[in-house]
Amino acid sequence: MEEVFDKLKELQDVLLKEFDVETELEEIPKELNAIKWKFQRIERTIKENENKKEHLNNRVRELKKEKEEYKQNKEKYESQIPLIKTQREYEAITNEIAQVDERLEIVGEEGQNAAREIEDINRIIEENTGLHAELEESIGSQDKEVQKQLNERQKELKKFLKEKEKISTGLDEETIYKFEKIVRKKEGIGIVSIKNDVCMGCNIILPPQFINDVRREETIIFCPNCSRILYYFEEHQEDEELLV
Ligand SMILES: [Zn+2]
Repeated sequence: MEEVFDKLKELQDVLLKEFDVETELEEIPKELNAIKWKFQRIERTIKENENKKEHLNNRVRELKKEKEEYKQNKEKYESQIPLIKTQREYEAITNEIAQVDERLEIVGEEGQNAAREIEDINRIIEENTGLHAELEESIGSQDKEVQKQLNERQKELKKFLKEKEKISTGLDEETIYKFEKIVRKKEGIGIVSIKNDVCMGCNIILPPQFINDVRREETIIFCPNCSRILYYFEEHQEDEELLV
């Protein structure tokens, strides 16, 4: 059983390195991903504004055409005035001209609003295009470095997985599975000793019968409180170690 405990301790060391690498694999691309996300958002903003601008430009062209038509109508009506013979005809024509003037005013106003909006949009596009270029450059320069770091960590991870496999031979799968979960959950410590009747992982006092079971080392026993694997710490072991 001592061999099993030694293996578990060895396994724990490798697991901790593995977890560290896993955390790094998550952390390394975070900053770059945030920049990429921002870059995409800006790209979308530019596209949306360009669409809006195109739509407005089309509308401005339409308004210009309408304005021309109204102007021609107005000229046509005005050219008829000298030929008018009756008051009724005169009233009818001036009425038409007033209506055309009203339309011209509406069209003119809409055209001015559209022009103002286009100006605003141009400003937005200009600002975002500058930012877009900056981010693109920073993505370009960081991408390679991040990829390089990730590749290195992946290699390390593979190495640790291999080591883990080597250490694990002879241990049963369920124990390994449980142990890995405990190490992950319990601040990296999955195997602890019992010293002075106390679990060194969580400091709970354990009953004598339970301690005897651990001492007998027939099966792997988990702490009823913190779930860590327990082994018995012999006082004389410490003395021996001190003498060495
Ligand atoms: Zn415990």
